[in-house]
Amino acid sequence: MNHYEVAIIGGGQAGVPLAYALPRAGKRIVLIERKHLGGSCVNFGCAPTKAAIASARLAHLARRAAEFGLRIPSVEVDFAAVIQRARDIVAGQRSGIERGLTGKDNPRVITAQARLDGRDGDRFRIVAGDETVLADHVVLDTGTRSAIPPIDGIGDLDVIHAGNWLEHTELPQRMIVIGGGVIALEMAQFYRRMGSEVVVIEALAQIAGSEDPDVAEALQDLLEREGIEFHLEAKIDRVEKRGSGIVVQIAEKGAIAGTHLFVAAGRKPNTDDLGLDTVGVKMNRGIVEADERLSTNVRGIWAAGDIRGGPMFTHTAWDDHRVLYSQIAGDRSRTTERVVPYAIFTDPEIGRVGMTETQARKSGKEIKVARFEIRRNSKSLEIGEPDGFIKVIADASTGQLLGAMVMCNEAAELVHIYIDLMNARAPFSVIRDAVYIHPTFAEAIQSAATMLG
Ligand SMILES: Cc1cc2nc3c(=O)[nH]c(=O)nc-3n(C[C@H](O)[C@H](O)[C@H](O)COP(=O)(O)OP(=O)(O)OC[C@H]3O[C@@H](n4cnc5c(N)ncnc54)[C@H](O)[C@@H]3O)c2cc1C
Repeated sequence: MNHYEVAIIGGGQAGVPLAYALPRAGKRIVLIERKHLGGSCVNFGCAPTKAAIASARLAHLARRAAEFGLRIPSVEVDFAAVIQRARDIVAGQRSGIERGLTGKDNPRVITAQARLDGRDGDRFRIVAGDETVLADHVVLDTGTRSAIPPIDGIGDLDVIHAGNWLEHTELPQRMIVIGGGVIALEMAQFYRRMGSEVVVIEALAQIAGSEDPDVAEALQDLLEREGIEFHLEAKIDRVEKRGSGIVVQIAEKGAIAGTHLFVAAGRKPNTDDLGLDTVGVKMNRGIVEADERLSTNVRGIWAAGDIRGGPMFTHTAWDDHRVLYSQIAGDRSRTTERVVPYAIFTDPEIGRVGMTETQARKSGKEIKVARFEIRRNSKSLEIGEPDGFIKVIADASTGQLLGAMVMCNEAAELVHIYIDLMNARAPFSVIRDAVYIHPTFAEAIQSAATMLG
């Protein structure tokens, strides 16, 4: 039986960089991936969705050409070509990873479904396809998949979800999206801008459930202006096929008909067939419990990325590999105590870091809040992108930022100014008193900070 110092199960956003890094520290590694290296992000998540969203934005801008004094008589969407472009980007990124990792002795890559199978003395036994290997440490990085809610009739439908949307090359005529979270909103706007009618059905009273209500309302308003229909606080009783389409039956609201159903109702951890019970790893509803060093309750078994619950992003999974490197091969100083930002890649984007206003108020701290409307920024008018606002929340006694929300063009880039400030634990006056280039959206970042005092 082959023995490795570290076995990584799952070639996702933590597993791949860790497989590169650990051999450089002299560790003998095996990386076991059941399907494609790169995981969700590369194969159907961040990469293709952002590629598709770029096509959608271009279509949207082309339709607005007259506002800029240009004549583009008609904008024709070749949906299959849009999907093909996204697939090509996936193929390019995936083959880059494959070229870098496969055919090597260390790290060795095994393509197979893996599961833990108890211990052999101090070592963990892992079954990977028809091979069994032993490891001193095991890193679990198996990610998540789309959760399909147990709605009556859903099993009879051919649903589209985050894992299979790239296989659908025909433009849906009328798409019903179940869920109002990040993936749902990004995809709803994508299909709408491609030309589909889109209806979003959300169980909660607001979309983007983790955001402040004013942020969610502003985003919903923008999406409604593009023609997306929303049904909030909607409890779905059942779904069914009707003719060549589908019907979603909503309690007390009636039936909504569509041609396609996109289910974006949460993610489910890929831990059900991992054999974690054979070594006693603790889980809570499928989520692996791990501490700030990413150690599970079983010494030698570590968990990274989405399967730990909490913020499910590529950048957090990627940073987990640095924590694991530090814990397994380094000075053990790095932990998950970190500032975690994220973005919603609608157009305009939302860039977020730290607490929301709601969370800050609940924290009991004395806070200052400032809101700056993007249309007051001159560049936003010059380039025709006046929608959105910025909200910054600071600790009233120290002036340090507790959180920020930026909604505007390129907000996912701009919010990094606030991220840096928070990482430096510097007061907002650092931004307020600096000189920013005119005309830029960055000036709006400064304007919001200036409003804090
Ligand atoms: C549609 C969509 C859009 C997204 N957009 C963004 C975005 O813009 N920005 C962002 O930060 N995040 C985004 N995400 C989230 C991001 O993709 C994930 O947070 C990230 O990929 C998590 O990385 P991971 O390593 O935990 O898991 P994954 O990337 O999911 O990798 C897990 C890997 O483990 C493999 N695996 C599972 N079980 C086994 C097993 N038993 N044996 C062997 N291999 C196994 C899987 O095949 C997979 O390759 C998006 C997700 C989706 C679905």
